[in-house]
Amino acid sequence: MTTDFSYPHIQMYIAGQWCAGGDGQSAQVLNPATEEVIGQVPLATIADLDRAVEAAVAGFEVWRATPVAQRTAILRDAADRLSARSAQVARVMTTEQGKPLAEARGEVLRVADALRWDADDARRAYGRIIPSAPGTLLSVRREPIGPVAAFTPWNFPAGSPMRKIAAALSAGCSIVIKGSEETPGTVCELVRCFAEAGVPAGVLNLVFGEPAKVSAHLISSPATRLVAFTGSVPVGKLLASAAGAAMKPSIMELGGHAPVIVCEDADPVVAARRAAAAKFANAGQVCTSPSRFLVHESVYEEFTAAFVEAAGALVVGDGREDGVTMGPLANERRLVAMEELVADAAARGAKIRCGGERLDRPGYFFPPTVLTDVPADARIMSEEPFGPIAPIVPFTELDEALRVANSLPYGLAAYGFTRSSATAERLVRGFEAGILSINHCGGSVHEAPSGGVKSSGYGREGGPEGLDAYLVTKRVSHILE
Ligand code: NAD
Repeated sequence: MTTDFSYPHIQMYIAGQWCAGGDGQSAQVLNPATEEVIGQVPLATIADLDRAVEAAVAGFEVWRATPVAQRTAILRDAADRLSARSAQVARVMTTEQGKPLAEARGEVLRVADALRWDADDARRAYGRIIPSAPGTLLSVRREPIGPVAAFTPWNFPAGSPMRKIAAALSAGCSIVIKGSEETPGTVCELVRCFAEAGVPAGVLNLVFGEPAKVSAHLISSPATRLVAFTGSVPVGKLLASAAGAAMKPSIMELGGHAPVIVCEDADPVVAARRAAAAKFANAGQVCTSPSRFLVHESVYEEFTAAFVEAAGALVVGDGREDGVTMGPLANERRLVAMEELVADAAARGAKIRCGGERLDRPGYFFPPTVLTDVPADARIMSEEPFGPIAPIVPFTELDEALRVANSLPYGLAAYGFTRSSATAERLVRGFEAGILSINHCGGSVHEAPSGGVKSSGYGREGGPEGLDAYLVTKRVSHILE
């Protein structure tokens, strides 16, 4: 464990200045591995939020008028700064969120790369000329939508904010982003890179506060032109409604309860190892985590044994320690949720094949947990666990497995394992989800879009589609004189 490290002093960043909240209010930041208080996060007043919006309005005028090549150069500079300090930012992240250092560092490097990708893609935000009558010019242009209000959670303290900041700034928008009050250090480190790279004052503003108060104020502010949220379905519905009432577009990256269908022709051991690696990454606190395992009865026992073995091989501990492969849950709410989901499943007859109880030590530690014989009415089969619990159930007919997979309101990610390309195609067509992987449970790649269907939200982050929400399309019909 490293000793020459101190958690950063957390401030908000408004109009190019680091600042505390106007009335000096703050909340504690905890290390989930020790439950120790590691810092204080300032909470914005309404006046602070108004200053941030005013700054974003002024910043938008400056940024949209900045040549795209110059914007790209500044954003690439910020990405390089972030890559160069990835080890230090990873330590901040692990201290406040819990994930192992290697996972945290990987996240920081990935988001730096995502920023480069968006920054370059902004140079290709082409409009078009449409054939029309002689003496006329019919064109379509894409322009930045304006100041964005963004709200991000605690599970990917770099990934979630960067997706919104990178898309907004690449498109030429300004942004007021509310980082998570539980993981504020990482987003401060990101913002520091942008500030040092020369992003003009007001273009990027960072606030923290009481979430409902901040979102209500920022969404209703007439200056806000787009609402971007990552978080739970209930909060997403609330914010999407508020945006709709103000006739503002929104993008919503919400929860999921991803099914994994393992077909009879799949290698059950390979499938189990790949699925378990994805299941327990970030202690299961990923919106695309595989979380309902539907396994053909002929390979069910082999799959389950390999899955339990993979779960048992994980080393749970403080993410700052060498060799640890799964950290604590990020907050006490998740720990309580895991205990309740396991108790409910067990009461209904499920078998606990490994894990099942919080670890007897300080910190929010819950071990990798595998449940079998889980009845369909157990809460874990319909509620997103957002934690390290894997319910495994057998199926006989693929159509039935697909029906179960699609039976929930969620539609974010879905996974299938099969050696048959025809079956793979059947799964791809059959799954109601926005993110599909066959024969693996891979994470997101920034070159391709991520996003959900049904209650998992709408809009896409990443890929060329990632800039769409941040750009407005103008049709221009011109009679030449
Ligand atoms: P929660 O529903 O209270 O909050 C989810 C996120 O929304 C948090 O970051 C929170 O600060 C924010 N939030 C809450 N109310 C808000 C409001 N009125 N305005 C703006 N932001 C608001 O739940 P939680 O305990 O923090 O997280 C648990 C659940 O959230 C999980 O079960 C999971 O479904 C979901 N979640 C999803 C993602 C994701 O990547 N899609 C990330 C984190 C949490």
